[in-house]
Amino acid sequence: ARSGASIVMAQFLKLMQGAATGQIVVTDCLNFWGGCRVKPKEGTHAEPVYEPATGRKLCDMFPCGKEEVDQAIQSAHAAYLKWSKMAGMERSRVMLEAARIIRERRDNIAKLEVINNGKSITEAQVDIDVSWQTIEYYAGMAGTLAGQHIQLPGGSFAYTRREPLGVCVGIGAWNYPFQVAVWKSAPALACGNAMVFKPSPFTPVTAVILAEIYKEAGVPDGLFNVVQGGAETGALLCNHPNVAKVSFTGSVPTGKKVMEMSAKTVKQVTLELGGKSPLIIFKDCELDNAVKGALMANFLTQGQVCCNGTRVYVQREILPKFLEEVVRKTKTIRIGDPLLETTRMGALITKQQLDKVLGFVSQAKKEGAKVLCGGDAFTPDDPKLKGGYFMSPCVLDNCRDDMTCVKEEIFGPVMSVLPFDTEEEVLMRANNTTFGLASGVFTRDISRAHRVAENLQAGTCFINNYNISPVEVPFGGYKQSGFGKENGQVTIEYYSQLKTVVVEMGDVDDYFNN
Ligand code: NAD
Repeated sequence: ARSGASIVMAQFLKLMQGAATGQIVVTDCLNFWGGCRVKPKEGTHAEPVYEPATGRKLCDMFPCGKEEVDQAIQSAHAAYLKWSKMAGMERSRVMLEAARIIRERRDNIAKLEVINNGKSITEAQVDIDVSWQTIEYYAGMAGTLAGQHIQLPGGSFAYTRREPLGVCVGIGAWNYPFQVAVWKSAPALACGNAMVFKPSPFTPVTAVILAEIYKEAGVPDGLFNVVQGGAETGALLCNHPNVAKVSFTGSVPTGKKVMEMSAKTVKQVTLELGGKSPLIIFKDCELDNAVKGALMANFLTQGQVCCNGTRVYVQREILPKFLEEVVRKTKTIRIGDPLLETTRMGALITKQQLDKVLGFVSQAKKEGAKVLCGGDAFTPDDPKLKGGYFMSPCVLDNCRDDMTCVKEEIFGPVMSVLPFDTEEEVLMRANNTTFGLASGVFTRDISRAHRVAENLQAGTCFINNYNISPVEVPFGGYKQSGFGKENGQVTIEYYSQLKTVVVEMGDVDDYFNN
C-alpha cells in the first residue's frame, strides 16, 4: 500500500514551479511512515480540504485510525533505536543536509504553504526560512549534548547522561503548518528521539514534504512520520502507551484534553496554547513605531497568530493621534491573492473561521464597540478569488475590558483599542486574564520598559517591537497559555532526560553486619 517517496516529491515540486492560486490539486497520499508515503486504509471516509484563497477543493484528507497510528508509532520506535545510538555529530550532519534541502526548495514549499493556508507568500517564505534555520540551530546543538561529572569521596564519582525520551508526538495547529512541524521535530531529532507528527486537518499538505526531506537527507526510515486526522487521531496518539512525550500546539480547551490523556501514562507534555496578549503603548513612545508595531501585533497571517497583541492599551493623551494613524495604515493594507509578492493579507483558513471572526465583530458592536475600519467579508477584484475567505482588517474603538472581543481569543484580524491613564492601572488590567502567552510595551523610558516587562504575566514581552521570534529565543506561555518552551537552548531540556550513573571506586559499606 505504499508509493515511492522520491518520485512523488519530484513530480509534485515540479508542478509547483509555475503554480498559481486556484490551479493545484493534491492527489498524493499524505500519510508517511516507514520512510514512504502510505495510502489511506480502504474505506476511510475522506474529508475535503479547501484552498482558502479560492474556496476550491485542494485535496482529500483521510484520517488515520488505530491500526495506522500503531504502525506509525512502531515505525518510529524502530528508527529511534538506530538514531538514538548515533553520535550527536552524525545526527547533526543529517540534519544540516535537511536544512540545506529546505533552503534550496524554499520557494516551492512556501507556495504550497500559501495554497493550503492562505497567508501571503512573503510571510510563508519567512516561515520556511525560519524552518531551515531552526534545523540548522538544533543540528549545531546535537553534537554538544552532554552530562556532568560529579566527584564523590574516596575517588568515587557520578555522571549524568543526557538521553532522548523515545517516540515523541507532535500535534500542530493550522496557522504555521510547516514551521510548527519543524519547531517540534528539530529539537526532538537533535536529542535522538523519533517523532510522529499530526498536522491540523485543515493543513495536511506540507508536513509530508518535510518527512520526505528528512528521508532524503538520510534519517533512518520511520524517524519522522506523518499521520493525518483530527481530534480522534490526536486522541489515539495522546493515549498511546508507547509514546513518551506530546508536544501540542493549539487552543486552550484542546490543550487541557491533551494533558489529561497524557497523564494516563505519565507522558511529558509541552503545551503551546492560545492567547489574548496585551500591547501597552505609553505616551512617550515613538508613535510611528508603535503604530507599525500594533499592525505587526494584529494582522500577520490574517490575525491568526497565537501571540498576537490584540488588546492594545494606549495612554489617553495620545489615543486620538494613535487611532488616526493606525486606521490610516490599516485601510491601505493590500488584501488579495496571497501568491502575489505585493499582497500583505491573504485569506482566513476556512469559511467557518471567517464567519466566527465576523461574529466577534458583530458581537463587539452590540456590546458598544465602534468599528473604525474593516471588519467585513472582503471580495477581491480577481474573479478566481470570489470564493475565498477574505476579510478586511478591523480596528475597534470604545472597547472596555469586560467586552467579549477584549476577553476572548478571536484568531482573526481584529484589534481592540483601550485607553489607560497610569502604568499601575494598565499592568493590573493587562494581567487580568487567564492567558499569558505574550505581551508588548512601547516607550522611550528604558526603566519603565524593563519594569513593565518584569511585571507582565506572560511568557514573552516585546519591547518597542512585536512578533519577533528568532530560533535562538525561547517561546512559550505562562498561565493557561501553556508550559514548556519551543526554540532556544532550553528546548533541549524538553526533549531529553537526565540519567544519573553513580560509580563506586572502593568497597561497599558493611552496614548491616557492623
Ligand atoms: P485546535 O485546538 O482546534 O487544534 C489543534 C490541533 O489539535 C489540531 O491538530 C487538532 O486536530 C488537534 N486536536 C483537536 N482535538 C484533539 C483531541 N481531543 N486530542 C488530540 N488532538 C486534538 O486549535 P487550532 O484551531 O488548530 O489552532 C488555533 C489555536 O492554536 C489558537 O488557540 C492559537 O492561539 C493556538 N496556537 C498556539 C501557538 C503557540 O505556539 N502557543 C501557535 C499556533 C497556534
